[in-house]
Amino acid sequence: MASKIDLHTHSTVSDGVLSPADLVLRAVERGVCALALTDHDTTAGLPAAQEAAGICGVVLIPGVEISVTWSGRTFHIVGLGIDAENAALQNGLARIRSIRRQRAREMAHKLERAGMGSNLWAEVCELAQGELVGRAHFARLLVRRGLVRDPNEAFRRYLGSGRPGCVEVRWANLDEAMDWIHQAGGSAVFAHPLQYRYPSAVLKRMLEAFVGAGGDAIEVVTGGSNAEQIAAATAHARRLGLAGSLGSDFHTPDQPWNDLGRISPLPECVTPVWKRWSWLPETCLTEWL
Ligand code: MN
Ligand code: MN
Ligand code: MN
Repeated sequence: MASKIDLHTHSTVSDGVLSPADLVLRAVERGVCALALTDHDTTAGLPAAQEAAGICGVVLIPGVEISVTWSGRTFHIVGLGIDAENAALQNGLARIRSIRRQRAREMAHKLERAGMGSNLWAEVCELAQGELVGRAHFARLLVRRGLVRDPNEAFRRYLGSGRPGCVEVRWANLDEAMDWIHQAGGSAVFAHPLQYRYPSAVLKRMLEAFVGAGGDAIEVVTGGSNAEQIAAATAHARRLGLAGSLGSDFHTPDQPWNDLGRISPLPECVTPVWKRWSWLPETCLTEWL
């Protein structure tokens, strides 16, 4: 199970553990020919990734992942093929980053009050190596402090919804996130639809709102997807007239089931999202399918 196309990945610029250049090198080693870097709320890793991709002969698709709050629930939109210079996109992302930073500060306080030790904020900032601090960084910190065995346990006991370190925030509105991506010339992809574990009626309404707001595609294949999940996502794509995308959601080599390119190919009955990218050489991705 391997794909030469991987359109959802993270670097140290958000909550991944490889630098943008190292991410590209690992992609090459693993046989990935077209890679999208889709860090949470930031495009700061794109120049370094683009430079490495140019040297290695990888097609780099500029991307970003935006958290959206819709009807009190969160889902993620991946923007692919974006112009990272676009002012509407950058202003929007800057606002979301400030919300994320405020959330992280509050999480550090709450976790300290819950007995996780002191100096959490300084240490999580050091671990994050940058401006963006997410829940995955707190999970790694709790593992490092020996408070949990692995990041999953950290989410289950301390970071997940309703747990002691959880801080609820309002992310972007659906319409504005869509607008930022489209103003930047990108395609809006509903990310990992089956990972949220929402009741199917909720997911269905969410997807319909996404389509109503102008959404372009849905991630039919994500890291760890089994055949049943791919079939379910394919059915959503076809029912809603959405194109399909695929991506591992790679964060770290420590999670081999999410490694770069370790995903099934896109089913043939789904229109690939890149069909609408006129800037990409016609045969480029299709021959790698
Ligand atoms: Mn992440
Ligand atoms: Mn996501
Ligand atoms: Mn992601």
